Amino acid sequence: MADPVVCVVGGGTAGLEAVLAARAQLGEGVELVLIAPEPEFRYRPMSHRSLFAPTPEQSLAIADLAAHTRTSWVQDRADALREPEREVLTRDGETIAFDFLLLALGARPRRALRAGHVWVRSGDPGFLDEILAGLATGAVRSVAVVVPRGARWPIPAYELALVLAWSAAGGNASVTLLTAERQPLDTLGSTATEVVCAELEAAGIEVVTGVEVVDRDTGELDSAALAEHDAAAAAEVNVVPEWGGDGIDPLTARPSAPDHLGPVAKRTRRFDRLISLPTVLGPFLPGSPHDAAGFVEVTETLNVMGSRRVWAAGGCVAAALEHSALSAQHADGAVAGIARAAGVGSAGDLVVAPELTGMLLTGQRDEWLASNPPSTPQPSTRCLWWPPGRAVGKMLAKLIAAWDPSVDGELPGHPHGVVVRAPVALGRGDGFFVSRAAVGGEAELRRARVRDLEIRQLMAIRRREREAEEQLRTMRGELRSFDDRERAVIRDLRGQGYLQRRGRS
Ligand SMILES: Cc1cc2nc3c(=O)[nH]c(=O)nc-3n(C[C@H](O)[C@H](O)[C@H](O)COP(=O)(O)OP(=O)(O)OC[C@H]3O[C@@H](n4cnc5c(N)ncnc54)[C@H](O)[C@@H]3O)c2cc1C
Repeated sequence: MADPVVCVVGGGTAGLEAVLAARAQLGEGVELVLIAPEPEFRYRPMSHRSLFAPTPEQSLAIADLAAHTRTSWVQDRADALREPEREVLTRDGETIAFDFLLLALGARPRRALRAGHVWVRSGDPGFLDEILAGLATGAVRSVAVVVPRGARWPIPAYELALVLAWSAAGGNASVTLLTAERQPLDTLGSTATEVVCAELEAAGIEVVTGVEVVDRDTGELDSAALAEHDAAAAAEVNVVPEWGGDGIDPLTARPSAPDHLGPVAKRTRRFDRLISLPTVLGPFLPGSPHDAAGFVEVTETLNVMGSRRVWAAGGCVAAALEHSALSAQHADGAVAGIARAAGVGSAGDLVVAPELTGMLLTGQRDEWLASNPPSTPQPSTRCLWWPPGRAVGKMLAKLIAAWDPSVDGELPGHPHGVVVRAPVALGRGDGFFVSRAAVGGEAELRRARVRDLEIRQLMAIRRREREAEEQLRTMRGELRSFDDRERAVIRDLRGQGYLQRRGRS
């Protein structure tokens, strides 16, 4: 019997951790396939000082990791899952067969507001320098930092707000944190809330919780509107109270469209500068059950809902928080699930209710002020969550440390802070994403649905093409055997003297 094929889709933290864990746990008795479009996995060595002006990116070649793990690498995107046929259809039209599949497609950050700047993960936003310089000269007198609905990892907003407030200390500028969360960092538990509230208060930050920030301008957030928009201009936004009591976590809900909000109580606020975290959408992979925001719906053991052969891990999963440490944890747990289902290798621990563990750093203000006296050009930044790195995972981090001499496998130092252990719910999107009737990101969702439909139509056309090719092959075969029979009959008849070749008497 052929070895079972285990296919991993996605070459990010979750996907690569899964490939490494699969080879280690499932042994050589399985065929591993990785579908990943990019040739490299990009990561930055961790540094808790350089969050916004990060250390240079480094990369791990997917080809090397594939060779190391004896994995067949298909450099392509998965466009659709056909679970009954146990096939993944790729963008180039290939079908990749699997016995067990792990989806590790990540999530897609999207601008939540037309107004202001958007903080991009692992970007190097020069705008922060402009704002810090403006705070120093007095040209910028108010800055808002926004945690929108669906942000899924709110910490960067707190880090930004603190650094801005420390820079502005002693001046007249104000820093405001506007968050959809009911309490600051409440998904990380009450200790985290207490600690961060104390830090925010000490820094003099105005905190407004339980609100959604929406554009005053209505209309789609399309590329034409954004091309004309000046992110460094003053921002006028509406601040709308979140609905309470509906049991939906605002960090996983979708933003509301401003023109659908109706007559809800709102307050208009104006800030010289505004920085918002992005909201996050799932991959909307056709053929896999996904919630309204496109995230893959899973059971508590990361099995895709209703499936016995497909698992999902990382940012693409419907979960209450997104973090690379969770992604790696999911990947290890999903591989353990595959090992059990396949009955091969040594099954590790199944993930049941994953937990995010880390430290919330405290008391960084004085140290920061000491190393960044007023008017320091490009002052350093600080992270709040420790360890801060994204290239994590029991197996992946070890491999990077072994291959990259510039990376240290050990965690640097021992920071000052409080330990946080936050259980992170997994599950059906309904529990997280049902939101106000009026929702934003509609254009994005519509585009994704149209794409979904197009892909389904494409799949149907490809299926018909394959069927037609098969029919053509059968007909050609039949024609050949008909010709053979005809030739044989003619030979017979000639032998019996019935027919004469032309030109002969
Ligand atoms: C605003 C924000 C800030 C964050 N900040 C931090 C932070 O400071 N520290 C931290 O640790 N985590 C942070 N995270 C979370 C972290 O970035 C993610 O948890 C982590 O990258 C998820 O890993 P992943 O492998 O699931 O997805 P990704 O790392 O996104 O990888 C997904 C991979 O799948 C590939 N892919 C996508 N679609 C397809 C397809 N159709 N077919 C094949 N391949 C596909 C992509 O090309 C990519 O290589 C943050 C998240 C957000 C939203």
